Amino acid sequence: MRDAAAILAGRLAARASRALGAGGGTTVPGRVALALAPGLIGRLVARLPGGVVLVSGTNGKTTTARLLDGVLAAAGRTAVHNRAGANLLPGIASALVERAGLDGRPRAEVGLFEVDEFALPAAVEATRPLVVVLLNLFRDQLDRYGEIDIIAERWARVLAALPPGATVVANADDPMVADVAATWAGRCLLFGLDDAPDRGGARTLEHAADARYCYRCGVLYEYGLVALGHMGHYRCPRCGRARPAPAVRARTVRLRGADGAFFTLVLPDGEVAISTALPGLYNVYDATAAAAGALALGADVATIARGLAATAPAFGRGERVALDGREALFLLAKNPAGFNAVLRTVLDAEAAPVVLIAINDLAADGRDISWLWDVDFEVLRDRARAVVVSGLRAEDMALRLKYAGVPASCVTVERDPLRALEAGRARLGDGERLYVLPTYTAMLDLRDRLARQGYLRGFWKQ
Ligand SMILES: [Zn+2]
Repeated sequence: MRDAAAILAGRLAARASRALGAGGGTTVPGRVALALAPGLIGRLVARLPGGVVLVSGTNGKTTTARLLDGVLAAAGRTAVHNRAGANLLPGIASALVERAGLDGRPRAEVGLFEVDEFALPAAVEATRPLVVVLLNLFRDQLDRYGEIDIIAERWARVLAALPPGATVVANADDPMVADVAATWAGRCLLFGLDDAPDRGGARTLEHAADARYCYRCGVLYEYGLVALGHMGHYRCPRCGRARPAPAVRARTVRLRGADGAFFTLVLPDGEVAISTALPGLYNVYDATAAAAGALALGADVATIARGLAATAPAFGRGERVALDGREALFLLAKNPAGFNAVLRTVLDAEAAPVVLIAINDLAADGRDISWLWDVDFEVLRDRARAVVVSGLRAEDMALRLKYAGVPASCVTVERDPLRALEAGRARLGDGERLYVLPTYTAMLDLRDRLARQGYLRGFWKQ
């Protein structure tokens, strides 16, 4: 009875929040339901016949969960999924409440939840997952989280608390994630990249902030291949500890600029050509992670390929928006590693791109924007034709570009997001697109304003 009342109250809260235009109502219903019926998440997920999958990591949670949802759909399976990045417990509860009958039975087979890396312990405790996907650990929002070593320690404790039959899916190319996964005695499926295009010979890390040390010896890893940030083929020169061989691999990766990627997905029992509309090497990682997660859930090779190919970018993550005859491509960038990855994608796609960078410093972005100095904006110096900076910290961003050597004549400061979009659009030539690189809340703000102007639907309706 109590759960039924909580579900009902959560649904009403969702409706009210939408009617008031208070965003997507992605966490309020869960908060209301959990206040009325603590432990509701555990009771609802216990009735999901296919169990729960959790996806966590600094970068790529939303896209990986979305890809996994696509593969489940291709397999004819239904998932309850916390979309729109509501990745703390209330967001999970909201998704469940939305899809549950008043009898407490979810109208879905599998629970698929992206989880904030710091909230993973609580999510594991609440959902007793069948599969946990660990993507990566990058420096992110230091004022909120502190050192990533603390998260790695927490994750290792989390794994010790998993149900014995659970499968851990983990990134072999991220030393810290692979170390965490190695503590799990149960079934483990590692994923990674066999090669990376263009920079296939890269042996050096982009930035000191990405450096990773062998946890036994404290010496820097040596890299045979640097794929992205600190991810790649690493080896400790002292003790020989090295990247473990992954069972699920992407090989012969070919990036198609902003239009997606091709690669060969190698699974334990076969390989298949994958074409994805998601741009950038980071999305190849996400697709490979989703494939490994789907494999853990029993999907076959053909279904995985179909599901990955059919998945469109999540909002703000490679999403395209039509702007009066031109196109804007949104590439969310919320930390140094993520920013470097999208800058690389933009420069691979266009010789002289027009870029809009929108930086906010609200709680969800991280209040401390000193991380902007860890992003390699120097790559824009001789390449960007125009850069429009916007957001609450537009002036700080303009200063960062000045120190990066981007000529002042290329840079326009426009704090108002719509005027910034217009300023960027005005610089485009025929057939060119505007690359929009926003932090999280700047992205929500831009999309919200575009939606109000009739350019797109509200993201919560997707
Ligand atoms: Zn070592």
